[in-house]
Amino acid sequence: MTPLARELEQLLPPEDRLLDPADCWAYGADNSKLHAAPDAVAFPGDADTVRELVRLCRRLGVPLTSRGRGTGTTGAAVPDHGGLVVSFERMNRILEVDPANRLLIAEPGVTNGEIQQAAGRERFFWPPDPTSSAYCTLGGNLAYNSAGPHAVKYGTPRDNTLGLAAVAGTGEAFRTGVHTTKGVVGYDLTRLLIGSEGTLAVITEATLRLTPQPEATRLIQAVYRTVGDAARGVSRLMARAEVPSALEFMDHSAIAMIRDYAPDSPLPREAGAILMIETDGTDAGIEATTTGIRRAAEGEGCLQTLAADTPEEAQALWAVRKALSPALRTVAPKKINEDVVVPVSRIPDLITGLDRLAQEHGIKIVNFGHAGNGNIHVNLLVNPDDPQELAAAERCLDAVFALVLSLDGTLSGEHGIGLVKRPFLARELDPVALGLMAGIKREFDPDNILNPGKAPGQP
Ligand SMILES: Cc1cc2nc3c(=O)[nH]c(=O)nc-3n(C[C@H](O)[C@H](O)[C@H](O)COP(=O)(O)OP(=O)(O)OC[C@H]3O[C@@H](n4cnc5c(N)ncnc54)[C@H](O)[C@@H]3O)c2cc1C
Repeated sequence: MTPLARELEQLLPPEDRLLDPADCWAYGADNSKLHAAPDAVAFPGDADTVRELVRLCRRLGVPLTSRGRGTGTTGAAVPDHGGLVVSFERMNRILEVDPANRLLIAEPGVTNGEIQQAAGRERFFWPPDPTSSAYCTLGGNLAYNSAGPHAVKYGTPRDNTLGLAAVAGTGEAFRTGVHTTKGVVGYDLTRLLIGSEGTLAVITEATLRLTPQPEATRLIQAVYRTVGDAARGVSRLMARAEVPSALEFMDHSAIAMIRDYAPDSPLPREAGAILMIETDGTDAGIEATTTGIRRAAEGEGCLQTLAADTPEEAQALWAVRKALSPALRTVAPKKINEDVVVPVSRIPDLITGLDRLAQEHGIKIVNFGHAGNGNIHVNLLVNPDDPQELAAAERCLDAVFALVLSLDGTLSGEHGIGLVKRPFLARELDPVALGLMAGIKREFDPDNILNPGKAPGQP
């Protein structure tokens, strides 16, 4: 028996730990499909036990990887150095909902969907809403700064979290942030920990800033002749005082795929790009807002706009976007799904460049995503059983990242770095910034036990 297993037997009752390699296996993977088995898994029920686990790992020099539900797509929860996985599935309580101060306090293992339900009972919501909301946890959302379509108006976890409780790699518990919507005492450790992928500290509690639910929402579908026409529409929409609450985009390759999969879909023949525009507000003001947004969408190159007045009509408009996922699955069994970001005005350059790379490398590329943020999901479709095609896709991906950086973009808007994008980090961050980040890592985690090898600036 290893020293880790022996000490875990002392520290935790049998139902709060896994030591058998067969039991631990399932805790070695996430949605990146990468896998590395941990030596043990712990299920703490409170922050004191988390602190004891970190201290134990530090004393034994054993890596510790925090884990939500493993829905992350870049492998940050994969324990590639072995050691202990700390799974937060039993720290899943909502501790307080405080409508008067617009905040909610919760443990990290609660799912995003459970937060929305608890907030919704008081007619509030927490804006970060990844599509995986029903399964992914608050801890994972914070560690990846995960967001969804509503980030364009309401922001990401960094903009919607007031404070945290956490345990550093030293084994010391600490608190960051405030319970108020203003505060400037000390450095902003809350924003630093959010997006740090479990490499600086283990989060044991979060105080979230809630937003009142809108009284009314409307959906508009705008169809454009070219991606450039749609991008100019995005700029016009984002220049309005009333920003859309969601602004989703599909390019001509996505439209072609939907047409093949659902030939009856009612899209004009010349359609080269689509925007799905959601707007929200008060019952009294929603019609005027929708009219203004529709006018802004209807510029040069706009072929048609359709507005949904009822939930049924909205569902019919979303059906076009929803046909995309099954369509992608029928075309290729594997997709390399990137989530790059470029300034909104550079979206046409990105799409033109991606078309060129698809031709050069012989890889099918389909693009859609959160246009209001310039956050485009670039999907390289490949056959995993064809080694030549896989190698071509790797070369193509390298060129995609070079293209994004040449357009003043960033490699990830919401999926993070993890294991998958680690080799590309130094292309975006300058050496001095990387050195400072390595120093921050040493300060929080001097023995490098928290998710080792994944922090920026680490070899
Ligand atoms: C179908 C599907 C749809 C998705 N849609 C979206 C989307 O719309 N937008 C988006 O941004 N992402 C999306 N994702 C990606 C993923 O769901 C998110 O990244 C999510 O936030 C991960 O949560 P998780 O609980 O699964 O975390 P995990 O994958 O288990 O872990 C993610 C990271 O969080 C760290 N971590 C977990 N808990 C803690 C803690 N308590 N303290 C410190 N670190 C911690 C882990 O170490 C790891 O670094 C999607 C994934 C799937 C499978």
